[in-house]
Amino acid sequence: MQTVLITGANRGLGLGFAEQYGGSGMTVIATCRNPDEARELQTLSAERVNVTIERLDLQSDADIDALARSLESRSVTLDLIVSNAGILQGEEYGDWTRQAFADTLDTNVSGPAILAQALDEVFSRSGTLVQLSSGLGSLEWGGMGMTDADSYSVSKAALNMLTVRLSLSYQGTARCVVAMSPGWVRTEMGGAGANLTVEESVERMTSTIDSLTAKESGRFLDNEGNPIPW
Ligand code: NAP
Repeated sequence: MQTVLITGANRGLGLGFAEQYGGSGMTVIATCRNPDEARELQTLSAERVNVTIERLDLQSDADIDALARSLESRSVTLDLIVSNAGILQGEEYGDWTRQAFADTLDTNVSGPAILAQALDEVFSRSGTLVQLSSGLGSLEWGGMGMTDADSYSVSKAALNMLTVRLSLSYQGTARCVVAMSPGWVRTEMGGAGANLTVEESVERMTSTIDSLTAKESGRFLDNEGNPIPW
C-alpha cells in the first residue's frame, strides 16, 4: 500500500488531499500544527483507519525532527510527500516589514526545505515530492497584477528554486520533485471569488501527480501538468 504525507492537512487544499487520498485507500499521514483543533481531520481519521494525524509546525525544528524520528522508528516509507502548507500575508509596498518577510519565507521555503531533508531517510528512492507553489512565484508572470502579496510571491519564487535544487540532490534516484500551482481555489487563502473548488483543484492535481515520472523532476507545473514559465 502506498503512503502519503501531507502538510497543512487540517483545512483548505491539504484537507482536500487527505480526503482524496484517504478515500483512495492510501495510507495517509495527515500533519497539522494543532491536531486537537483539527475537527474535520479528526472526523476523517475516525471514519478511515488509513488516515492518521501527526503534529507538525513547519516553523519548528523540534516538530520536524520528532516526526522524522517517529517515521524512522516505525520503518515507514513515504511514496508521496505533498508539501502543501503555506501562508500569505497581504502586505503591499509601503507596508513591508522584516517580520512579514521572515515569517513567510520561514513557513513557505525554509520549513519545506528542512522537512524534505529530514524525511530523506524515509522517502522512497522512487517517491514523488509535490511542493505547492503559485503562479505568483513566476518571475515571467511578475505577480499577475496582484499588488498585495509581495513576500508571498518572493517565497514561491524561492520555493521554485528549492524544487530545482532538490531535483539536483535527487539525481541518481528515481525520485521526482515538482513545484505545482493548484490554480485559484476557494479556500481561506484563495477567498470566495476563486474559480475552483478544493475538490476540482485536488482532482486535477492528484491525476497529474499520478502521471509524473522522474523525467518531470525539477519542473514548475500547473494543476493539469502543463509547464508554467519560471
Ligand atoms: P489555507 O486554506 O490558508 O491553508 C493553509 C494551511 O497551511 C493550513 O492548514 C495552515 O494551518 C497551514 N500552515 C500555515 N502555517 C503553517 C506552519 N507553520 N506549519 C504547518 N502548517 C502551516 O491555504 P490553501 O489555499 O489550502 O493553500 C495550500 C497551498 O496552496 C499553499 O502552499 C498555498 O500557497 C498554495 N496556493 C493556494 C492557492 C489558492 O488559490 N488557494 C493558489 C496558489 C497556491 P493552520 O490552520 O494551523 O493555520
